[in-house]
Amino acid sequence: MIGNKPTVCLLTAMLALGASTLSAQEETPDPRWTWDLTDLYETEDDWNAALEEALASLGGLAALKGTLSDGPDALLALFEANNAMNRKVTRVFQYASLGADEDLGNPRGQERRQQAQRLFSEYGQSVAWIQPEMMALGRETLEGYIEALPALEIYRFNIEDALRYQPHTLGDEAESVIAAAGLMQAAPFNIYGLLANSEIPWPTITLSTGEEAFINSQGYSRHRTSRVYEDRRAVFDAFWNTWGEYKGTAGQSLSAHLTAQLFTTRVRNYDDTLTRNLFQDNLPRSVYDTLVRVTNENLPSLHRFLELKARVLGLEDMGYEDIYVSMVEPPRDYTIEDTVELVNRAMLPLGETYSDKLAESANERWMSVFPSPGKRSGAYMSGFVYGEHPYILLNHLDDYNSVSTYAHEWGHGMHQILANESQPQNLASFSIFTTEAAAIANELLTQTYMLSSATTDEERLYYLGYALEQIRTTFFRQTMFSEFEGEIYAAMERGEPISGDRITQMYGEILRRYHGADEGVMRIEELYHNEWLFVPHFYFNFYVFQYATSIAGAAYFTEQILKGGDEERENYLSFLRAGGSKHPYDLFMDAGLDMASPEPYEALIRRMDELLDDFEATLNRVEAARAAD
Ligand SMILES: [Zn+2]
Repeated sequence: MIGNKPTVCLLTAMLALGASTLSAQEETPDPRWTWDLTDLYETEDDWNAALEEALASLGGLAALKGTLSDGPDALLALFEANNAMNRKVTRVFQYASLGADEDLGNPRGQERRQQAQRLFSEYGQSVAWIQPEMMALGRETLEGYIEALPALEIYRFNIEDALRYQPHTLGDEAESVIAAAGLMQAAPFNIYGLLANSEIPWPTITLSTGEEAFINSQGYSRHRTSRVYEDRRAVFDAFWNTWGEYKGTAGQSLSAHLTAQLFTTRVRNYDDTLTRNLFQDNLPRSVYDTLVRVTNENLPSLHRFLELKARVLGLEDMGYEDIYVSMVEPPRDYTIEDTVELVNRAMLPLGETYSDKLAESANERWMSVFPSPGKRSGAYMSGFVYGEHPYILLNHLDDYNSVSTYAHEWGHGMHQILANESQPQNLASFSIFTTEAAAIANELLTQTYMLSSATTDEERLYYLGYALEQIRTTFFRQTMFSEFEGEIYAAMERGEPISGDRITQMYGEILRRYHGADEGVMRIEELYHNEWLFVPHFYFNFYVFQYATSIAGAAYFTEQILKGGDEERENYLSFLRAGGSKHPYDLFMDAGLDMASPEPYEALIRRMDELLDDFEATLNRVEAARAAD
C-alpha cells in the first residue's frame, strides 16, 4: 500500500545478474568516482545495530493490528509509525544491497544482503494486515476519518488506492489459499532459468580468426556483432539450433507460467491477465492497445531504417543475422570527466535549477563509476530511502553508450531528488511507468546535444545511428515482445493448447511482420523464430511495454522542451516533482499528455522520421565525398 521505491532499471539489473567480466582498471580508482556509503552508516557496527533495532521494533507495528476502528487518530498513528519503520528498513537494505554489489564474490557482503532481505520480508509481514483492515472499515468510515482529522488528507491517495483492490480481494480463507498457491507459481521461471543458465550444453564453434567461441548467451551476445558474415551466421545457427532442441521443455515451462497467471487472474475476478497487470498502476487498457496499434501502423518507418542499415553495411540481401552489426564506428572516447561535462551541458534546456543540481551531484560521491572485479554488471539508480540522496551504479567504459547510460541513470536520480524535495514520504515513490520516461528523456536530450555539436558528417552519422538503433530496440522490439505476450495470453485464455511449436509459430508471425519479411525488407530464417526461447521477460508479465511507452513519452516531452519555452519546461519539471502523488496515467495527463492517445507514439515516430531524413542526407554526402576521393 505505502510502497517502497524500487531500484529502477530493474530490467537492466535482471538481464545482468552476473558480476562484471570486464577487465578492471589497473590503478586504484580515484575515490571521487566511488560511492561513499558512510552517508548511510558510519561503520559496519552501526549497520549491525540498526538491523537489530529495526527487527526489534517490527513488533510495535504489528501490535497496531485491530486498532484502526478506534478512530482517525489511530489511523494517523499507524501511517506515521509505518513511515518511520519504512525509513529504517530501507536504509538498512540500501546499505547492504549497495555493499553487496561492490563485490558479488565477497561472502560477507552477500550475507549482509540476505539479512536485509529477511528484514524486508518480515517488515512486509508486519504490515500485511493494514490493507484488509482498511477495506473492512470501508470507504464511508475512512472518508469520515479524513474529514474529522485534516492531517489525514495527505494520505487520501494511499487510502483510496488501498480500497481500489476491494473487488479483487477475497475472504480470509480464500486469501490464504491464494498465498499458498503463490509458492508454486515461481516454479516455471525457476525451471526456465535452470535450463537456460546451466543445463543446456552450449556448443563451441571456430570463428574465421581461428578463435574458439563458446556460444552460450554471453557468447551469442558478444559474437553476433561480428563484421564477418560467415561468423555471425554460424553464431546464429549454432545458438538457435541448440535452443531448438529444448523447445518442448521451454514451451511447457512457459505454458505452465501462463496457466499460473491465469489462475490468479480468474480467482481475483479480473477480465484478463493484461488488465490485472495494468491494475497495479491503474493504467487504462487502452494504453497498451493504442501502443500496439500505432506501432503497427508505423512499421514502414522501421523498415526504412532497416533498408538504410543494409545500405550502410553494403548488404544486398540483409538477414536477421545481420541486425546486431554496428553501422558506424564511434568517433571518439569519452572519459568520465567528459561524460559529466557533456551531460551537464545537454541538460541546460531543463533550466538552471535542474542542471546546477545535476552538476553538483556529480561531485558528491554518490556514484560507483568503474568496473572492478566482482562488481555487479549493468547500471542502476537506487533510491530506496526517503529523504536520502540517490546512489548510482555504473560500469563506465569510455564509450558513447556509457555517456547515454550516465544520462539515463541521472534521469532517475534527479527524478528521485525532485520528488523527495516536493512530496511527503507516502507520495514520493514513483512508478517505473513514469520514471523510465524521465530517464530516457535525458538520453534523448543528450543525443540532440551531441548532434548539435558534431563537427563532421562521420560523427553525425554515428549519433544518428545510435539514436535510431535505440528506437528500434527500445520501442519496436519491446512493443513486438508485448504484442507477442498479449497473443500468447489471449490464446491461453481462449483455452487453446500452448506448446513450444505453437509458441514458435506465433512468435515467427510477429517477428516477420515487424521486420517486413514478406515485403522483402529483411530475410528471416525459420530457425530464428526460436528467438522467444531466449527472452526471460515473458515470465515478467507485461513489464516491457513500459519501455516502449517511456521512450514515446520521453520523445513527446523532449520535443515540447526543445521547441517550447518556460511553460513547457515547468510542465515537465512539475511531472518530475509530482513523484507518486497520483497514478502514472493521471500524472502524464496533468503534464498534458494522454498516454492512451496516439500522441506520444506519433511524437516518437516524428522524431524517428526526422532522424532518418538526416541520416539519409548525411549518408549521401559521405558517400559522395568517398566517391570523389
Ligand atoms: Zn531506467
